[in-house]
Amino acid sequence: MDIIINSLYSNKDIFLRELISNASDALDKIRFLSLTDKEVLGEGDNTKLEIQIKLDKEKKILSIRDRGIGMTKEDLIKNLGTIAKSGTSAFVEKMQTGGDLNLIGQFGVGFYSVYLVADYVEVLSKHNDDKQHVWESKADGSFAVSEDTWNEPLGRGTEIRLHLREEAGEYLEEDKLKELVKKYSEFINFPIHMWASKEVDVEVPADEDDSSEEETSESTSEEEAEEEDSEKKPKTKTIKEKTYDWELLNDVKAVWLRNPKEVTDEEYTKFYHSLAKDFGDEKPLSWSHFTAEGDVEFKALLFVPPKAPHDLYESYYNANKSNLKLYVRRVFISDEFDELLPKYLNFLRGLVDSDTLPLNVSREMLQQHSSLKTIKKKLIRKALDMIRRIADEDPDEANDKDKSDVEKSSDNDEKKGQYAKFWNEFGKSIKLGIIEDASNRNRLAKLLRFESTKSDGKLASLDQYISRMKPGQKDIFYITGTSKEQLEKSPFLERLTKKNYEVIFFTDPVDEYLMQYLMDYEDKKFQNVSKEGVKIGKETKDKDIKDSFKELTKWWKDTLASENVDSVKISNRLDQSPCVVVTSKYGWSANMERIMQSQTL
Ligand code: ADP
Ligand code: MG
Repeated sequence: MDIIINSLYSNKDIFLRELISNASDALDKIRFLSLTDKEVLGEGDNTKLEIQIKLDKEKKILSIRDRGIGMTKEDLIKNLGTIAKSGTSAFVEKMQTGGDLNLIGQFGVGFYSVYLVADYVEVLSKHNDDKQHVWESKADGSFAVSEDTWNEPLGRGTEIRLHLREEAGEYLEEDKLKELVKKYSEFINFPIHMWASKEVDVEVPADEDDSSEEETSESTSEEEAEEEDSEKKPKTKTIKEKTYDWELLNDVKAVWLRNPKEVTDEEYTKFYHSLAKDFGDEKPLSWSHFTAEGDVEFKALLFVPPKAPHDLYESYYNANKSNLKLYVRRVFISDEFDELLPKYLNFLRGLVDSDTLPLNVSREMLQQHSSLKTIKKKLIRKALDMIRRIADEDPDEANDKDKSDVEKSSDNDEKKGQYAKFWNEFGKSIKLGIIEDASNRNRLAKLLRFESTKSDGKLASLDQYISRMKPGQKDIFYITGTSKEQLEKSPFLERLTKKNYEVIFFTDPVDEYLMQYLMDYEDKKFQNVSKEGVKIGKETKDKDIKDSFKELTKWWKDTLASENVDSVKISNRLDQSPCVVVTSKYGWSANMERIMQSQTL
């Protein structure tokens, strides 16, 4: 707790958006349940799905309440009481190695940010399945939960009471709170109200003490005075009075329902921040906002984040963690649908709002719905287009031949280097896509980047490679290994570079797997230059040379024994080195042997 508090201290403001985001989650949950069971909403005020903020200046209490799903006694203990939640240690670890504090919301420890501003916190909560309980803690390592017999009944939902620290007085200022809600919670889909003061004009009777002395002295008789009053002076007057009322702080707009032409870049960026719970100041690398029509109608808004989440590949194979939110006619359904996007696109953020899917069925039934397949297919297509656009708009990618159709905009500078950035963060995902998604393999291969003997320290694409191929060159050459530096010294390159052929360097372990799936591109075959079968241009096989070394090759083969080598051959693939060990066509490359070995150890 100390670490969390200290690391976030300069960023105290965030507690409010974390609480509002929890309230919004809780409201989403009850609204979802109400789709299949209207009863859960209850009646009267309980049906109002909203968030309320209230201040008590005297007692220095800030409270945030929602009419969401609420927490049972058990939930309170499990969800708020356990600081040893898995997210806590992940977050603490990240903070100690200089991680981005703005990402606290992604670690599932957002609630604890309340202790940035409060030294004592009460959480009152009423869940439909339990009595009202209070959880309280001073952040001293202990907490208490008891049945609430003294506060007013909540009906349903949760109220968080923050007893503010001495130095956190600013959070009792209405303006400060309004500013924070505007800044961080603009896109919350439920109304946020604050019990706020405002000055209103009220008509009050103009009492006698108030009438000016002049007038009284002018009056000669009571009758006259009365007459004058009714003609010139109203019997009432307006004064300013401070009253309190619920003030709506957000306008609950669904950005994705608006016309893309009317949404500004800034609005998209802010929406991305609230969606991704990433409140850094980086813009998303790209986004795509579209409406799909036809049999399956939906609206979608997809984002490429500026950075990969901390656990993107850690949980790749076991977690079903799509980062897309699914809405059906504006009602939030789930963010755990793995049917929306394939795993390799899990780094995308965004949402889908479908008009075709039925509202009143369970998540499990939705998961089976046939239109999900169509939605998924369209989303993949749009996602890959969006990624391609990052490259198309990036002036650093200037060699790309297919670019003529893309308008060059004036914000070129901003787009400069964006694709390299994308590639550093998410290149591995594209590679996994090539391995896993046969139907989009070619589209994904277009997005592939690598360094090569001719890329000059920059990233090159397969299209660039092909445009640089030598006349008569049939294959795309590549070599795999641990680093570019190591590969540059490889004897396998000697002759190829001398003859000015380009060779791709693949240095990520995943590349070996990748190349088992990526057999060809635009009718060109891939050839690993450390394997058998490298053909350098048109070469004549010199039978005489072969014959004259026959004795030697035979001796060599016998000496090495057949379990070690398949054959010993005379070749023209070298320039300086006398000999080299080559992998057979269908065998594992030496690099792959190395990778397999490191995995079994
Ligand atoms: P996260 O929101 O990422 O799960 P938090 O630390 O913000 O992590 O909240 C922890 C958990 O406490 C939530 O997952 C939720 O189960 C519960 N919780 C917090 N606030 C509320 C609330 N207002 N209503 C219902 N449950 C809540
Ligand atoms: Mg939260």
